[in-house]
Amino acid sequence: MPAKSNNHCSFCGRSEKEVGFLLAGVDGYICNECVEQAHEMVSEALRGKKGKSEFQLDIPKPKEIKEHLDQYVIGQDEAKRYLSVAVYNHYKRITSAKKDQEVDIEKSNIILVGPTGTGKTLLARTIARFLKVPFTIVDATVLTEAGYVGEDVENILLKLIQAADYDIERAQLGIVYIDEIDKITKKSENVSITRDVSGEGVQQGLLKIVEGSVVGVMPNGGRKHPEQRHTMVDTTNILFIATGAFCGLDQMVEHRQCPQQIGFNKTAMAETIQNADPLELVTQSDLVSFGMIPEFVGRFPILTHTNSLTKEDLTRIIKEPKNALVMQYKKLFHLDGKTLEIANDAIDVIAEAAIASNTGARGLRSMLEALLVDLMYDMGGSRKKKIVVTREYTLSSLSKFLVQQRA
Ligand code: ADP
Repeated sequence: MPAKSNNHCSFCGRSEKEVGFLLAGVDGYICNECVEQAHEMVSEALRGKKGKSEFQLDIPKPKEIKEHLDQYVIGQDEAKRYLSVAVYNHYKRITSAKKDQEVDIEKSNIILVGPTGTGKTLLARTIARFLKVPFTIVDATVLTEAGYVGEDVENILLKLIQAADYDIERAQLGIVYIDEIDKITKKSENVSITRDVSGEGVQQGLLKIVEGSVVGVMPNGGRKHPEQRHTMVDTTNILFIATGAFCGLDQMVEHRQCPQQIGFNKTAMAETIQNADPLELVTQSDLVSFGMIPEFVGRFPILTHTNSLTKEDLTRIIKEPKNALVMQYKKLFHLDGKTLEIANDAIDVIAEAAIASNTGARGLRSMLEALLVDLMYDMGGSRKKKIVVTREYTLSSLSKFLVQQRA
């Protein structure tokens, strides 16, 4: 290795001995570290420029948003209407804020309550894709109060920045989906390595980012690189959609509806509410009774819900949406020169098994995979051009799921 010279970097002034190496120019030198720093700064500046010139918010009308959702999400009409209007107003508010300084329209974050596997994530993801805004999903249960082991709430914004390809302007118009907020209630304790972290503390931590403020985010996650600079992110125009299954909330609503009848006249109570899904009647104060803190709920003025999926919904989910599971498998078979047909009564069996599994539409994919695995395994060997999956075949190949159903 050649001995290091006494030359100095013309940018930072350090000698070759202090840095890795120096590159010589016409009239001076630059060290490897300054090259790296300059590269970062140039990329950041170019990204900023690109963001400003290329990113424009094109807001479709609520009806258009709903029609788009209809192509991908089965049922959930109320959630679709609420979300379409809320999202439209949210982005309209941003564009109007520039023109009208007098009336300040408040931000409308959304809470979406509903059983698991009923399309909550799908709704939010589909909207974000339609609007072409950055989207990120975070799990509330991994968040902690500052200083505890786990993810700081600021990391949510880091994820959004990453989803926006490090374009801060775009990130500031993104959508953050916070899942499992029902697991950070006052009652829930999140056991961390150092100390128990209360769900309430996490809700408190989230307040400052969901209400709209300027938050310092460490681009590489602060704990590993404490020396790096903060990137400032304004959360005023970020839309937060908080969701959770809130198990037991429906019973709480039922009780609230008929408090005088609890305990001695359950049949009458059931009759009163039998026509309404209790989640339709959920209010902000029910969420507070469930353990959400009032300040948190107050920052999510829009409250809507998804319904449990019926057998009919599930059969439609298998067949109808763009990118429906059946279409995907048909395509896979088609690529091998085969035609796949799944009989309607076979699809009924799958839907019934999904209902029994109590995971909404979540289990459908693995059921179809189990149903078709032998046929796909044999794809090359079989001469048949057309493969028809019957009810009988489905009953036998899904036996493992159907056993659960009978249990
Ligand atoms: P949740 O967030 O409510 O737990 P997801 O949106 O993650 O449920 O749903 C899981 C999967 O089930 C989705 O990716 C989608 O394939 C399917 N799914 C669930 N609900 C619906 C629905 N209403 N319409 C179409 N597909 C659905």
